[in-house]
Amino acid sequence: MIRVGLGYDLHRLVTGRALVLGGITIPFERGEDGHSDGDVLLHAITDALLGAAGLGDIGEFFPPSDPRWKGADSRKLLESAWTAAREKGWRLENLDAVIALQAPKFLPWRERVRESISAILSAETDRIFVKAKTGEGLGPVGEGDAVEVWAVCLLTRD
Ligand code: MG
Repeated sequence: MIRVGLGYDLHRLVTGRALVLGGITIPFERGEDGHSDGDVLLHAITDALLGAAGLGDIGEFFPPSDPRWKGADSRKLLESAWTAAREKGWRLENLDAVIALQAPKFLPWRERVRESISAILSAETDRIFVKAKTGEGLGPVGEGDAVEVWAVCLLTRD
């Protein structure tokens, strides 16, 4: 069996918050607003995996109304969603993501982010890819007010 999953997320970028992408804190003057740590990349990945496995979505698994998830480490959320998918027999073939972020430059952080995601999912790094695009100065991304991520994954099961 082969299943594809798609995840999307957007967070506001505000001062006084850390910019966390894929479990890595990237030094910057703004970071993601949010109930959890705001890790927009891990949220999109979590939704892609849950969707492919037919298990629901991140809002159902970790309701924002639940005080347990306030300031939550999104690595733990992803780990627990992926554990649920693996218990159903799903294996990760590959995962790919696009981050829309005006600044800072993501490339210097890319390999660390890939390794971090690989470690959370217990998957080889070559199964995980992440790239970033700017907003070309246009719209909320281009003006530095938001960060968006699209993630896609392929899962297989016997
Ligand atoms: Mg989110």
